[in-house]
Amino acid sequence: MTAAPAAAQPLPGPSGRGGGADGAGDGSTAPELAQRLAAVRERIDAAALRTGRDGADVLLVAVSKEVAAARVADAVRAGQTDFGENRAQELARKLTELGDGLSWHFLGRLQRNKVADVVGAVTLLHSVDRLELAEAVARRARALGVVQRVLVQVNVGRDPHKAGVDPVEAPRLVAQLHELDGLRCEGLMTVPPADRDPQPDFAALRTIGSSLRERFPGMVHLSMGMSGDFEAAVEEGATIVRLGQALFGPRPPAPAERRT
Ligand SMILES: *Cc1c(COP(=O)(O)O)cnc(C)c1O
Repeated sequence: MTAAPAAAQPLPGPSGRGGGADGAGDGSTAPELAQRLAAVRERIDAAALRTGRDGADVLLVAVSKEVAAARVADAVRAGQTDFGENRAQELARKLTELGDGLSWHFLGRLQRNKVADVVGAVTLLHSVDRLELAEAVARRARALGVVQRVLVQVNVGRDPHKAGVDPVEAPRLVAQLHELDGLRCEGLMTVPPADRDPQPDFAALRTIGSSLRERFPGMVHLSMGMSGDFEAAVEEGATIVRLGQALFGPRPPAPAERRT
């Protein structure tokens, strides 16, 4: 589905304690969420400053997977505009529940049969890691008459459990994407292995990104950094960080997450 005709739909009311029936959450209230957002923004700003950058140049994507729409609405009221989801079905549900006016990011593995649910509905698709997927995205975008912005997900740590193109293959995939009408490749994304220091992986993604940018000047984005490591990512040049638990509290471990 594309942007549902949810004209001027009111946001769900304040969530209060509990976070809603289907949502993860630690029982935090709307003011607590607003406080966490502000605290995270401050940490992003400080990390950016340490390397002479402006924190305003780092986009904070609030990862709302498994978080109830009412809590997302709390975040919206606290000023947050960009949200990330990793499953097409949940994205479609949130689009219906929350209406227009927000920017959605898709972060998860995308099956080709779900492409139609995502293309045109998201600001940025972070997880393109193979040509067949890119071709399906481009085809759908052309059919809708839109240009879909995408990132190439790189498996920098060569983690067999993680999605992403091998770092050696990344330049070729990026070049192939630049031949396709209907999508615009704007940078790279990575999820480092969970069991080691992510800093070298962030540095490696930055190196790949810099060399690609010489050939493809539009490759401006590095989407890296999650709740546990976003400051290191910002210090290594992240332009987009993706934070879930640091904002919304712990999630129950879900099978969907182990796959990503
Ligand atoms: C879940 C997820 C995140 C957010 O993880 P947190 O640890 O909750 O910050 C970021 N990126 C991707 C790809 C994810 O799947």
